[in-house]
Amino acid sequence: MLTSVLGRQFTRKFASMAPTMHKFDYLVIGGGSGGIASARRAAEFGVKVGLIENSALGGTCVNVGCVPKKIMFNAAMHAEALQYHKDFGFDVAPAPFNWAEVKKKRDAYIQKLNGIYENNLNNSKVEIIRGKAMFVGEKTVEVNGQTYFGEHVLIATGGRPSDPGAPGAEYGINSDGFFELEHLPKRSFVVGAGYIAIEMAGILKTLGSDVTLMIRHEKVLRTFDSLISDVITDELEHIGINMLKNDGFVRATKDDQGTLTVTTKNGHSISGVDCLLFAIGRDPNVELDLDKTGVTLEKGHIKVDAFQNTSAPGVYALGDVCGRALLTPVAIAAGRRLAHRLFDGKTDLKLDYNNIPSVVFSHPPSGSVGLTEREARDKFGDAAVRVYRSSFAPLYYALSERKVKTHMKLVCAGDEQRVVGLHMVGQAVDEMLQGFAVAVKMGATKAQFDDCVAIHPTSAEELVTMR
Ligand SMILES: Cc1cc2nc3c(=O)[nH]c(=O)nc-3n(C[C@H](O)[C@H](O)[C@H](O)COP(=O)(O)OP(=O)(O)OC[C@H]3O[C@@H](n4cnc5c(N)ncnc54)[C@H](O)[C@@H]3O)c2cc1C
Repeated sequence: MLTSVLGRQFTRKFASMAPTMHKFDYLVIGGGSGGIASARRAAEFGVKVGLIENSALGGTCVNVGCVPKKIMFNAAMHAEALQYHKDFGFDVAPAPFNWAEVKKKRDAYIQKLNGIYENNLNNSKVEIIRGKAMFVGEKTVEVNGQTYFGEHVLIATGGRPSDPGAPGAEYGINSDGFFELEHLPKRSFVVGAGYIAIEMAGILKTLGSDVTLMIRHEKVLRTFDSLISDVITDELEHIGINMLKNDGFVRATKDDQGTLTVTTKNGHSISGVDCLLFAIGRDPNVELDLDKTGVTLEKGHIKVDAFQNTSAPGVYALGDVCGRALLTPVAIAAGRRLAHRLFDGKTDLKLDYNNIPSVVFSHPPSGSVGLTEREARDKFGDAAVRVYRSSFAPLYYALSERKVKTHMKLVCAGDEQRVVGLHMVGQAVDEMLQGFAVAVKMGATKAQFDDCVAIHPTSAEELVTMR
């Protein structure tokens, strides 16, 4: 009797000291594009959802990606439009640009978005857990000393800019740092040839910085169709960016005034640099003690199957941490489909990673969907592929001296001439692509494109009148 009373007291005391295990049907790690979308969709099906985030809600896209980038691109588009005002009869004096003012308003806008995300999660009854998650068991993580278990666990931890690890690189910034700049740099040195480097170099140049862009090969955007890669490389030079091609970063040194001198492999020495920006790729956030859960990696990213299953049962991953099609809508679409599959009985639902449209907000912008010409030729053979091209000066430039051409390419394959790739560069193509991506996704043929009556006068009409 005495023993059992003591035993009960001990059990009660022990239970009050042991950390509580918080249990969820769905535990999501990462409050970015994919995590939030999946968590909220799952909550719609009445399951108990927890979402862990160790930084600002909204993730990369909202805080240091798509959203602030597009605001800066829009600012740069205003600067560009100013060049043409005179041609349309507006004799506007050169207008100074106030970077600090735009940054202040941009930061406020993003803060507002953070709040909206928080409200949306609360309204969806998703429990927000603040802190960094680390696995301590198969489907269990620890956050700030508390333990959380999920019957199903989603890893949507995204990525971060790669570290250049070169002498003097510590004087530079990455894409996150770009959004902290308080003033327009006078002289910028950008390293990288991917879309982030191209977009940021274009924004800086268009807003008035003196920009050097250093790339390791002859062209930028080399994973895109050659049309985009060729035209954008030329346009970067046309807008006055100093291109250092087939070159490499050697070192940066800082002088007493705080300005940098960048030395390159080909012996270039660019001095007076006040913004050294590295945009050389992104690494996945996989430092989660994954060995505790049995999740395996492939080339550094989390390995998943077509249904976003990792190698550990009940643990899933999606978005940038998986390293495939690093785009916000991809993470969102995969996240929502996963929620339907797990909690809505749609057991076959998965994201089709083919024909994902994407835009580079370069100057001018580019857009593409489907296979590149090279990929189509490799897949279907040269004889089965027919390519249609068009290059023209849009009517927008009818009155201006400088005319920025638009270039378009349709890649068609097979007897039916199915449109398997669509690539374009030029004014407004960023807003033109989405509708055509629907057609390509539906398997439209060249004849069906041609059967659609053109809208005149637009640039888009060219896509349905190519011969
Ligand atoms: C400069 C730039 C511009 C871009 N522009 C575009 C664009 O125009 N269009 C487009 O579609 N895409 C764009 N992207 C890509 C887009 O931002 C990403 O593809 C998207 O954000 C990926 O979503 P995600 O959910 O996988 O990861 P993220 O959005 O990165 O979210 C991951 C979240 O997980 C959190 N996290 C990480 N580890 C932990 C942990 N251990 N515990 C708790 N939380 C953790 C992070 O803090 C982060 O909030 C851009 C990216 C960059 C960098």
